[in-house]
Amino acid sequence: AAAGTANVGVVGLAVMGSNLARNLASREGNTVAVFNRTEEKTRALLDEHPEAGFVPASTYEEFAARLSKPRTAIIMVKAGAGTDAVIDELLRVFEPGDIIVDGGNAYFPDTIRREKAVRETGVNFVGAGISGGEEGALTGPSIMPGGSDESWATLGPILKSIAAVAEGEPCVTHVGRDGAGHFVKMVHNGIEYADMQLIAEAYDLIRRGTGRSPAEIAEIFAEWNTGDLESYLIEITAEVLRQADAETGKPLVDVILDQAGAKGTGAWTVQTALSLGVPVSGIAEATFARSLSSHPEQRAAAADLPGPQEPSLATETEGFIEDVRLALFASKIVAYSQGFDEIRAGAAEHAWNIDPGAIAKIWRGGCIIRAQFLNRIADAYAAEPDLPLLMTAPYFTEALSRGQAAWRRVVVAAARAGIPAPAFSSSLSYYDGIRADRLPAALVQGQRDYFGAHTYKRVDKPGTFHRLWSGDR
Ligand code: NAP
Repeated sequence: AAAGTANVGVVGLAVMGSNLARNLASREGNTVAVFNRTEEKTRALLDEHPEAGFVPASTYEEFAARLSKPRTAIIMVKAGAGTDAVIDELLRVFEPGDIIVDGGNAYFPDTIRREKAVRETGVNFVGAGISGGEEGALTGPSIMPGGSDESWATLGPILKSIAAVAEGEPCVTHVGRDGAGHFVKMVHNGIEYADMQLIAEAYDLIRRGTGRSPAEIAEIFAEWNTGDLESYLIEITAEVLRQADAETGKPLVDVILDQAGAKGTGAWTVQTALSLGVPVSGIAEATFARSLSSHPEQRAAAADLPGPQEPSLATETEGFIEDVRLALFASKIVAYSQGFDEIRAGAAEHAWNIDPGAIAKIWRGGCIIRAQFLNRIADAYAAEPDLPLLMTAPYFTEALSRGQAAWRRVVVAAARAGIPAPAFSSSLSYYDGIRADRLPAALVQGQRDYFGAHTYKRVDKPGTFHRLWSGDR
């Protein structure tokens, strides 16, 4: 690009935007224009990173003038009203054919709305989920862009240049039209909630069930990280459990207040799943587990409720730890299967042509749920693109049948000992529900017909039936 001309711009220079701009600038062929509402942040970024060769702008007009056409701008501002305000400003100074990318954590229905409104002006709008936090933004995130095919043609090479790389492939793919990218990013976060909760339950079961110390459990997780469970989350779990508190010398995990926060993406995933009618019980339990933890007044009031008569697990320790590993893997398969089911249902609802195998691949690097396991998911969809349910692919059915006896023993042991394992047990119930020959849903239909004349269907002939129940009394 000519001096003072940039091929891409970033609006919003807080931590995410600054890091993304530096990442862009570090790649061959990119010159990056930068703009921030409060100009001090732009100056600070320029002072701290002269090596980046940023092209600064102090007004939106100047920002637009600095960009080569078609102009491409990535917005990294506070999600919500901030995003709408910046879009309005950019629309004033951009022209048809230009591209506005929202890289913030937008709720996908907002992205659908914005894409529709922006498209009417002739400007392209792309909602792109960006995962990996500030570190990922700087060194290589996993990127989930939606938007039109036309935008992808210009944007694809730029995003590929900054994305994480997994097994030689950049962790970015054109997910689908309008809000598809932010939808998939949302489900990614939901799966992340489930994965974290399952790991936390495994830790709790081993700690309270066998009396192992956090440092000892760190070694168990480090060992697990060399097998099927190998993942970023298992790796950092070992690191967290190994950590001692500098002040007290106690395990750090014992001085951290046991109330888990949330920024809402797990709740979005569950709310969306409820409207789509997709049972994502693992993600829901993980989200509720955080809510349960965050009500100290209720927990204090309930603390005297009676526990079990035999609070110990009374099992052979080594065998139990291996059982927990197998139960964790089986539950993880269910959680991912449910997440991909939500992606399938969302794609059907919004007419997005989403390739689930490609999604598994772009999650292999840069994002929080990155793991070897995602290769197995990609393989499963490569072998059978229309797989009705991920867990029915041969690799997963084999793992589920290998782990199921252990899974049942762990859930029984947890219930006996009074150790909460909502994600482990709900995953097992889902497994038993989805594979059941007959479900008590038949009885529910009978009840519905009784009180509401909602009718029922029969197993032996077509049609819709209603029984005149009152005649029986
Ligand atoms: P942030 O704290 O969410 O937002 C601060 C930035 O937004 C500042 O540049 C601020 O400008 C700008 N801003 C706010 N309202 C504005 C408005 N009305 N007009 C213009 N600019 C406005 O920043 P962040 O933590 O870097 O996050 C940026 C985005 O990335 C957010 O959407 C966030 O949810 C997302 N995010 C993603 C991850 C991830 O892992 N993917 C992690 C963190 C954040 P001023 O300097 O002028 O106030």
